[in-house]
Amino acid sequence: MKLLEYEAKALLQKAGLNVADGRIINVGDQLPSMPAFPVVVKSQVPVGGRGKLGGVTLVNSEKELTAAVKNISALSIKGYAPKTLLIEQALAIDREFYLSLVINRGNAAIDIVAHPDGGMEVESQKGFFVTPITGSNADTVGESLAELFGLEGKAFLLAEWAQKLYECFTKNDTTLLEINPLILTKQGELVAGDCKMTLDDAAAFRHPDWQFETPPADNSYVVLNKNGTVATIANGAGLAMATVDAVGNAGFTPANFLDIGGSATLATMRDSFEKISQLPNVTAIVINIFGGIFRCDIAAEAIIAAKQELPNLPELYIRLSGNRAEQAIALLKTHGMQPFADLKSCLKAIKS
Ligand code: GDP
Ligand code: MN
Repeated sequence: MKLLEYEAKALLQKAGLNVADGRIINVGDQLPSMPAFPVVVKSQVPVGGRGKLGGVTLVNSEKELTAAVKNISALSIKGYAPKTLLIEQALAIDREFYLSLVINRGNAAIDIVAHPDGGMEVESQKGFFVTPITGSNADTVGESLAELFGLEGKAFLLAEWAQKLYECFTKNDTTLLEINPLILTKQGELVAGDCKMTLDDAAAFRHPDWQFETPPADNSYVVLNKNGTVATIANGAGLAMATVDAVGNAGFTPANFLDIGGSATLATMRDSFEKISQLPNVTAIVINIFGGIFRCDIAAEAIIAAKQELPNLPELYIRLSGNRAEQAIALLKTHGMQPFADLKSCLKAIKS
């Protein structure tokens, strides 16, 4: 489950790491009066790239604040409308770094990943520094980071960050923790300017206190063969199993099992596609939806939106049947997709 920035920052703060003073408001709520300007207004949506899309605004007065809150409240980012905004005391930025912790499954380890030029252009950077972090090597990691960032005087501070991030990561059953930017202020402090965290849904039973704004997707996803060529998405475990079997019987190697449960929202479809995108050999995705109470046209809308956002998806082979299937099919056709009448013709099309 992906946390929003303010939720992730609360966990950082609990771990003893520096974040800016801020407050949360719900969209539509009355504005709090700010103790000082400038402040930064930040849309709380579970995706990155908000800065470039107008979701992060620096304001210098009460009047600018009112306007920014109004704009950002109404701004949907990558399909997400914010329910919450974070208003933070702005930082005087000297430099921005990139720092993250990720699970390295191949080595059964946690890696720390860093780059001296963080911020909004980090995707285009090369040469990321990667090293394992263990909870007993923070001193060495701190020295490496200090050298990488050109902050030789701050090796001790960076070691403290590495240690606390490691503790925060493991204690919270995290699979990804990304600070971008890690800000060096003009006063020489290090502050987490932004934070993304993904927690392991499977560990939720250990954390009765996990109460977050975006609930976990009720997907059940299993990789069956990481070299499989045909991926599947279906609703309901029975239909999902039958779809996997049908793919296998048609002579393909099924890559995964995925039951999207009773809902196909933009978020669940995007999540499904993102998971499948991790499978390197998939050339076709079979989407098999049976609408009972659930409406096929909602699935169609979610497929269209997710496909627009993720243009490099493998070819989709879609079969929708049941509640509002006709509307769904018409909708998909207007977006250049040609759904199939049944699963058999869907699978036949892959072959050809
Ligand atoms: P993202 O685009 O979704 O990753 O949102 P970020 O929270 O990373 O914000 C994007 C950019 O806004 C950062 O790289 C900073 O350059 C800028 N920014 C964020 N917070 C502050 C702040 O407190 N002060 C100033 N001056 N800039 C900020
Ligand atoms: Mn960021």
